[in-house]
Amino acid sequence: MKIISVNAGSSSLKFRLFDMPQGNVLCEGVYERITQPIGSFKFTIQDQTAKGELALPTHAEAVDDLLARLLSERVVASLSEIQGVGHRVVHGGETFSTSVEITADVLKAIQRVSDLAPLHNPANLMGIESFTNALPQAKQVAVFDTAFHQTMNEEAFMYATPYEWYEQFKVRKYGFHGTSHLFVSQRAAELLGKRPDEVNVIVAHIGNGASLCAVEKGKSVETSMGLTPLAGLPMGTRSGDLDPAIIQYIANKEQRSLDDVINDLNKKSGFIGVSGISSDNRDLEVAAEAGNHRATLAMTLQNKAIADTMAQYIAYMKGVDAICFTAGLGENSPRLRKEVIERLAYFGATINQEANLARGVEMDISGPNSSIKVYLIPTNEEWVIAKDTYQFIS
Ligand code: AMP
Repeated sequence: MKIISVNAGSSSLKFRLFDMPQGNVLCEGVYERITQPIGSFKFTIQDQTAKGELALPTHAEAVDDLLARLLSERVVASLSEIQGVGHRVVHGGETFSTSVEITADVLKAIQRVSDLAPLHNPANLMGIESFTNALPQAKQVAVFDTAFHQTMNEEAFMYATPYEWYEQFKVRKYGFHGTSHLFVSQRAAELLGKRPDEVNVIVAHIGNGASLCAVEKGKSVETSMGLTPLAGLPMGTRSGDLDPAIIQYIANKEQRSLDDVINDLNKKSGFIGVSGISSDNRDLEVAAEAGNHRATLAMTLQNKAIADTMAQYIAYMKGVDAICFTAGLGENSPRLRKEVIERLAYFGATINQEANLARGVEMDISGPNSSIKVYLIPTNEEWVIAKDTYQFIS
């Protein structure tokens, strides 16, 4: 049986097709620049990658092209082989603490929480609609980025704001990247030779978006993102946490709207804002190497925030067995991992400099006497989505 795992963004659609239950990847790819004059696609089957341009006025054309290619490339003999489509949905609010089969009621509930993720949920819904139309026989399943964090206690998820904001508008911490935090924390337990409910781990999902999660005995008990993915750590283009009064101060100084200032915090802050060079960590590493102070500072602000938050989580969980790095930077930046772990020297965490040179492969990178295991674990959100979808079919 074949299952597609889908991540639909506002102008992109990423997919991976699995043969289940073994989980062999049959093909994967991405459609980009949807809604722009010329869109593009990248389609990989085994080691063969095809790239090209095509008109993609909406997500529906991307889905049609994808399915036509699966047939023409003989990845499937008939579309009826695809029995399930798993969709990444960014915000499930307080409604969804697990993955669910998509029904008319579920669609309404996803729409209801869309104002908590106005950039993401509408795009996710477009993906769902396109696949439901194109593959009416397949089961459609929603897998939420927020679901894993629904185990947080009130003391972790509440803000100290007027209580009515929570009652009336559901203002609280939700957390994101839950699928990745779940996958990596479970894998860490396997590497430790224990069950997830026997260990405490911290997962650092550090990509263009970045969040940390404290996973105590298999459950998320704290995480760094908040009501929205703007909170927590400095990221590629996002500021992370700051004094909220700054927003009003800048709005007054520059005579701009609050929306406009928030837009700067989402799109013109973090790496790009501080360095003035790039939101991409690779560019900053090159610039820092050449002596650019602001590039170094941009990365240092992130390292410090990561290590400070990890220290909080170590205290909150009364100790941790492992710290795990994942996502673009976490998997590929020895510099990031070294600088973060060195800041945790007080806790006895150390890193093995040689093992830490690894990129994109699973690796124990702990120093020989490290009090905390340090792992590099490539994330695999697509696999979690496919597995959850498979459960609804089997
Ligand atoms: P993601 O959002 O998970 O795709 O991560 C994107 C981030 O990972 C960008 O800041 C990239 O610069 C960073 N990244 C990807 N590959 C490398 C690499 N080889 N070395 C350093 N950073 C990398």
